[in-house]
Amino acid sequence: MELVTTAFPPSCAGWPASRAGAVLSIDLAALAANYRRVAALAGGAVCAAVVKADAYGLGVAQVAPVLEQAGARQFFVAHVDEGLALRAHVSAGAGITVLHGPRPDAVTACLAAGLRPVLNSLEQIGWVRQAARAAGRGVGVVLQLDTGMSRFGLSEADVIELASTPALLEGLHVELIMSHLACADTPADPANAMQAACLRRLAALLPPAPLSLAASSGVFLGPEYHFDLVRPGAALYGVAPNRESPNPLQAVVGLRAHILQMRTLSPGDRVGYGLTWQASAPRRVATIAAGYADGQARHGAGRQCAWFKGICLPVLGRISMDSMTVDITDVPEGQLEADSMVDLLNPTYGVDALAEAQETIGYEILTSLGRRYHRVYTGGGQATACSQAGEGARA
Ligand SMILES: *Cc1c(COP(=O)(O)O)cnc(C)c1O
Repeated sequence: MELVTTAFPPSCAGWPASRAGAVLSIDLAALAANYRRVAALAGGAVCAAVVKADAYGLGVAQVAPVLEQAGARQFFVAHVDEGLALRAHVSAGAGITVLHGPRPDAVTACLAAGLRPVLNSLEQIGWVRQAARAAGRGVGVVLQLDTGMSRFGLSEADVIELASTPALLEGLHVELIMSHLACADTPADPANAMQAACLRRLAALLPPAPLSLAASSGVFLGPEYHFDLVRPGAALYGVAPNRESPNPLQAVVGLRAHILQMRTLSPGDRVGYGLTWQASAPRRVATIAAGYADGQARHGAGRQCAWFKGICLPVLGRISMDSMTVDITDVPEGQLEADSMVDLLNPTYGVDALAEAQETIGYEILTSLGRRYHRVYTGGGQATACSQAGEGARA
């Protein structure tokens, strides 16, 4: 296996990336390709793009324009604040929907910015209905129904109340009725079909509106889950839709850390806080510049590898705040130098593989990525080489 270097322009090895501990590369061409792939799979359904949590940690300012360029016209965020921030990065005609909807004091800010609220409860419907009446105009909204996850959305009893009291929706234009799948990453789970049937049954009680159920994994369940609009997030960023088939999406994220120091251990030498790892034979080790403050889960040690030319470099002992120590014994002597870099994420060891080592999911790997990596956006058609990113581009 060769070290895959495509995600890292050669200039990234130098200034200013050398001032940071590690370089995070984000491949905007892969992002756009993933959007187009999911959109094609969704067939006639509108393919929105979910960019909550700073586009899953990848930077909404860089990610949203690329998704819009690739064809996205509808964006979803979680909070009103995220919607306000997104406004600056998409064209005026782009739709922004706020999944959590507004709390009472945020209704005005939400509507003033043209953010479309998802309404999850009768109380929330009431707050926005009052605001619509006060403003003397109709307001476009999304209704979310709870079809089994017990997380967000109107209950069956709420839906029946809305159906029997149409005045509760006065001034509100229901533009979409949505729900969310709890088990979409497990295609055989019977809960998927039950939730789809529940959405159809409850929506039939309400004024007719387009329907939406699928997030990333749901799109891959098949057309009976696509309805009128799909809401992928993770798939755009390269996370596998399920564990049952090979990941059809392109890797978006790469992470390469500087070696800070190398040493040779004798049998009996120990490594790291708590001296929890002990060499039983001579080992060569390297301390690399990424730690738990950079999103490298402290409990990931012991199962996680760094990589050099396809060789696994196991993490030894506990991960520190700013560094971790890896075993480089298997790398032929002379290939790693005091200033070399090793991969923590690359196209062959991606977010899903790292997530498995850390006993979490790719989503958590992405959203935990640290803020102090030097970030390089490639493939976006703009100046993306490190040297052009310039001083202070991203601290
Ligand atoms: C986060 C979220 C999505 C996107 O989910 P992915 O699994 O990342 O595609 C879609 N819909 C809702 C309601 C969400 O909260």
